[in-house]
Amino acid sequence: MERGDSVVCADNLSTGRRNNIAAFSNHPRFTFMRTDVSTSLRVRGPVDVVAHLASPASPPDYHRLPLETLAVGSRGTENALKLAALKGARFVLASTSEVYGDPIVHPQTESYWGNVSSVGPRSVYDEAKRFAEAISMAYARSLGVNVGIVRIFNTFGPRMRAEDGRVVSSFVAQALNDDPLTIYGDGLQTRSFCFVDDLVRGIVAMIDSRETGPINLGNPVERTMLELAELVLEFTGSRSKIEFHQLPADDPTRRRPDISLAQDLLGWRPRVSTEEGLHRTVDYFRSHQGEVSAAAGSIAGAQFEGNRSNVSRQNTPAMARLA
Ligand code: UDP
Repeated sequence: MERGDSVVCADNLSTGRRNNIAAFSNHPRFTFMRTDVSTSLRVRGPVDVVAHLASPASPPDYHRLPLETLAVGSRGTENALKLAALKGARFVLASTSEVYGDPIVHPQTESYWGNVSSVGPRSVYDEAKRFAEAISMAYARSLGVNVGIVRIFNTFGPRMRAEDGRVVSSFVAQALNDDPLTIYGDGLQTRSFCFVDDLVRGIVAMIDSRETGPINLGNPVERTMLELAELVLEFTGSRSKIEFHQLPADDPTRRRPDISLAQDLLGWRPRVSTEEGLHRTVDYFRSHQGEVSAAAGSIAGAQFEGNRSNVSRQNTPAMARLA
């Protein structure tokens, strides 16, 4: 919008929040549509780009919404592709580093095909995104849709929900509440954390290019969860202890993007260090301390839900539809 584009934002708010876009509600080039792209996606008038970012992405969210996650990766992706085909628009798919599963090749290059369980608790997300990549390529090959795929590695920043269950939001919220930081497993598993502003620049670069990809977008600086916990304790000045919990099933042991393709083809690389990004995230959470305190009871343990086989699904939207 800053550069003059008009944006139509479609979201069913199953994991997003209206508040996050409140600043644009009166913007002349912004429209919000509350809709589920798994059901349909219709937009009046010309469309230049369809960026398909819709999906739960935090493990506790996709464990809570398994059927919805599969639906948005499959039917949702096809509906978004149909809109792009109808309008002659470029289509950009937000795929994920999860397509690499628990990777045997390290760091992960786009040519690596991955090590994914098709039946484990994470499969609802991983296989939905793998299908999304496959159907995007099929629309490109058979209907000539101008497709671009980015594979997004762990991303964080302001406006995450305190209770969304991902590691950065959980640690920062726990630290600000002086609650124990919950490390899953021995804390030696690694991730590479990209600040959200960098990721947005990468997605915009992909929108503006004609590259098909897939192209990795992420910060290549790798850290253990123990190192992350220590950084959060230092930046918040918290007195929180560290607590060790059981590692969730199929939790990848390491993850780091090779971003050579993004550098060569999009001229993109992250500019914000994980430390700087963490400072900005801590500032945001501090300025929302009420929300952070209110989330206290629902932060730790959410992750384990996906490991239980008898989790009640009665309250999910998919179950309500079946009923
Ligand atoms: N994790 C953790 N404590 C938490 C939440 C997550 O130790 O409170 C670990 C999790 O087991 C994983 C890593 O942090 O190894 C990243 O988890 P996240 O859910 O943020 O993203 P993932 O990369 O697993 O999708």
